[in-house]
Amino acid sequence: VAVGDELLLGTTVDTNGAWLGMELAELGVPVLARHTVGDRVEEIARGIREGLERADLVVVTGGLGPTHDDVTREAAAGLLEAPLRLDPELESRLRGRWRSRGLPFPETNLRQAMVPSGAELLANPLGTAPGLLLSAGGGRIVILLPGIPREMRGIWNGAVVPLLRERWGGRLSRLHYRVLHTTGIPESRLAELVEPLFGMEVPRGVEVAFLPRITGVDLRLSAAEGREEGASRLLDRAEGALREVAGRWLFQAASGDLVDAVAQALKRAGASLVTAESCTGGLVAKRLTDRPGSSSWYCGGIVAYDNRVKVRELGVPEALIREHGAVSREVAEAMVRGAAERFQVEAAVSVTGVAGPGGGSPEKPVGTVWYAAQVGDTVRSRVETFPGDRVDVRERSAQAVLALLLRTLEGGEVPTPPTGGAW
Ligand code: ATP
Ligand code: MG
Repeated sequence: VAVGDELLLGTTVDTNGAWLGMELAELGVPVLARHTVGDRVEEIARGIREGLERADLVVVTGGLGPTHDDVTREAAAGLLEAPLRLDPELESRLRGRWRSRGLPFPETNLRQAMVPSGAELLANPLGTAPGLLLSAGGGRIVILLPGIPREMRGIWNGAVVPLLRERWGGRLSRLHYRVLHTTGIPESRLAELVEPLFGMEVPRGVEVAFLPRITGVDLRLSAAEGREEGASRLLDRAEGALREVAGRWLFQAASGDLVDAVAQALKRAGASLVTAESCTGGLVAKRLTDRPGSSSWYCGGIVAYDNRVKVRELGVPEALIREHGAVSREVAEAMVRGAAERFQVEAAVSVTGVAGPGGGSPEKPVGTVWYAAQVGDTVRSRVETFPGDRVDVRERSAQAVLALLLRTLEGGEVPTPPTGGAW
């Protein structure tokens, strides 16, 4: 139960709920529901009561502070008939904190020393108000945590996790998961490849979730601990099967960013890279240089936006542009060759396309992008028609050319991109 008017107004996003969701899944506690309520005693009490109707654990965040709108402890105390009492030890700790800073104690802060009777205190290493654990009968637990994310996490990690492990250890089946990253294949096509394996090559007990992003689709595999076949064995089998059918779309990067995989491959090859970008206007260069340490494998690049730059800086023949247009295989390949040649490096990429919203034509509609990668003497180029607005087209283009570079560096098969708006 996330408490706070600001959460309902939307001025603060409930990141506590998202974080706790992941923590609880990791711990092996399935989450049935999340409620968001305003700073009102009745609403908070209702949220807790409804949670207790179906769950063994209700975690409340927010509203534990010293101000009049922080009423979570009152709500819980009322609902669970555990009247608030002043905790003398908490009181002296609070007073001591203010005294040590040479400040007079604001008496309103005494609210933070009020504890529902029978509640356990959960130490807050990063703030003044401790978390509170209340028993709700029938083995059910209510945990109150501050709203400030740092404090909430500190209490969770330091006090709540050990406590839940101790009390519920035997019942928890920790969720193991791993994430496979794909790029260059739309979610629906990936599903066609992968879903027929479910329950067979991807064994029962392994859940596969599709997490689409603009730059690719992640597959999250998860399996609960404690089956006869260990969770990691199950995941190995599932991963092996998925690699079999979708291997050429997969890339390896702990961060999930394709640039990591590209950096590894460039380092392995001992190659340095240059970029020649038209419609992406330096986005590829930006993504590469976002990586710390990129100077050891990235040389630099040219934003060849206007055709004059393509001609003067990259040596693209004017006739080629006149004959085929700036968005063409010929120009993309001439750009990549020109860049590698002028900078005397082993690897180069180029992008030229129609990012929109203007500039499209029947033969080359908005989203048409030619891109090329060169490694040594090998030059590979591709065309795609990307959907979406200008931002989308540019992001997809940058990702696509990096994927093409990666496959070219790996010397593997370069998958044909899905065409005709299949994205
Ligand atoms: P305080 O002692 O600061 O009053 P509190 O326990 O009363 O702590 P709130 O007043 O509800 O907590 O929230 C304090 C701050 O924590 C808010 O300003 C907000 O930025 C942040 N916060 C509260 N709830 C959440 C949430 N669910 N997700 C992310 N941030 C939150
Ligand atoms: Mg508050």
